[in-house]
Amino acid sequence: MNYNSLTKRHIQDLEAIVGPERFSTGESNLELHAKDQSQHPSIRPEAVIWPVSRTEVSEILKYANLNLIPITGWGSGTSLEGNPIPVCKGVVLDFELMNRIINIREADFQADVEPGVVYQDLNEKLRHKGLFFPPDPGARATIGGMIANNASGTRTVRYGSTRANLLRICVVLASGEIIETGTRSSKTSSGYDLINLFVGSEGTLGIVVEATVRLRGLSEEFSAAIANFSSVEAAGNAVFEIIRSGLDPASLELLAPECITIINKEKNLGLKVSPSIIMEFHGATRKQLEEVMEMVNGICGAAGCLEFRSGIGRKERDDLLKARHELAEMIKRNHPGRSHIVIDAAVPISGYPEIISMARQEAERSGIPGYTFSHAGDGNLHLLFMGKTGDDKEWRIIDEVNERIVSKALAMGGTATGEHGVGIGKRKFMEAEHGKSLVWMKKIKNLFDPKGILNPGKIFP
Ligand SMILES: Cc1cc2nc3c(=O)[nH]c(=O)nc-3n(C[C@H](O)[C@H](O)[C@H](O)COP(=O)(O)OP(=O)(O)OC[C@H]3O[C@@H](n4cnc5c(N)ncnc54)[C@H](O)[C@@H]3O)c2cc1C
Repeated sequence: MNYNSLTKRHIQDLEAIVGPERFSTGESNLELHAKDQSQHPSIRPEAVIWPVSRTEVSEILKYANLNLIPITGWGSGTSLEGNPIPVCKGVVLDFELMNRIINIREADFQADVEPGVVYQDLNEKLRHKGLFFPPDPGARATIGGMIANNASGTRTVRYGSTRANLLRICVVLASGEIIETGTRSSKTSSGYDLINLFVGSEGTLGIVVEATVRLRGLSEEFSAAIANFSSVEAAGNAVFEIIRSGLDPASLELLAPECITIINKEKNLGLKVSPSIIMEFHGATRKQLEEVMEMVNGICGAAGCLEFRSGIGRKERDDLLKARHELAEMIKRNHPGRSHIVIDAAVPISGYPEIISMARQEAERSGIPGYTFSHAGDGNLHLLFMGKTGDDKEWRIIDEVNERIVSKALAMGGTATGEHGVGIGKRKFMEAEHGKSLVWMKKIKNLFDPKGILNPGKIFP
């Protein structure tokens, strides 16, 4: 597609839609919107706009569509696959100022929010009402970015990904048309499910300007535990057995020993250095949770657990969760002069022990610093490699490991990306994963965005 570069006239016209305070072609603003948190190279947009209303977004898109100007949505820029990098330049729409929590309807367990709301800020507001929005990617992500990437996190094993916690969205299409899709009812059989077309579409089908999200009640009681194992495979087997038992963990995270070492170094938590599962269960009563823990202890024991420590209190639970969320940042800090990539494959839970031990072996064999950790209960592994910046040989090895792990995941009926999205880096796996469906995805893209102005260069190989 041949897009137009912004002319003086385009700049004047677009600036006139929002006013000069919320339009910028300044170097520092362009640089701030040239790169997400991935290893993909920076590409600066030609302008950044901070809209404050759906009407402004509509006018901008109408203009961009007429003038063949690429438009890329921007939440917090915390993506890990280059998803918001404006690879064809054009305009970035930053939703920082569309950050109103419009309405919290406690009785219905719902909230209406603008796309720029950071999910932690929403949860802070909800805490006092005994409610929360469960998808929990850890980074300061916005609801718009989470919808676009179908983000998930430590709570997904019980409460689902962003997709499962979304009821209704308002979207501006490439033409500038504004549509609402979904319902405030908790269920519906009415017509095609357009809402789920937009979830995970990475801003390539439309721009989300409002969402009704599903809220959950904060649990009365919780119980947390750490189980240590002699091998990642044994820990993986325990994960499978816990899920198979139907005990319904609220989080089930696996950390290989190199991750524990970094956490101990940075956070001084004094954790035993071995493959570990950190888990949490929610329930209505202490007694019920004690029974659950006893069963989990038994399952872990049968899988060869070396040590099982339950009864972890709120402070230690919070410290562990915080450390898990900050793990990637800690790893990066400990490897100056290197860049990172996160392999993010996911498989059906029965294949989890095999793929997680494969990832660990691949990391060891590669000779490159590689950290294995995982939203284990979802069958979603992460292998974070720290490759020497500019060292082609190391990056070739990493690419080969990535290919082997994704191929294995696909052969198991899994996916190349459990939660980070396709962005730039996973386009090469799309054909293998989707086969003929990819042709239909392209047709849908052409239907919604015939001129291809929305986040071009993403998803499709
Ligand atoms: C340390 C760290 C840990 C992470 N852990 C996790 C994790 O556990 N689970 C997980 O899922 N992710 C994780 N991520 C990745 C990231 O946080 C998520 O992908 C998140 O959803 C990105 O949100 P964002 O607001 O930063 O969006 P951005 O990165 O700004 O954008 C994401 C995508 O959304 C599009 N977009 C933004 N706003 C809109 C809109 N209003 N309408 C349409 N499209 C829009 C962008 O164009 C882009 O394609 C992690 C990232 C970091 C840095």
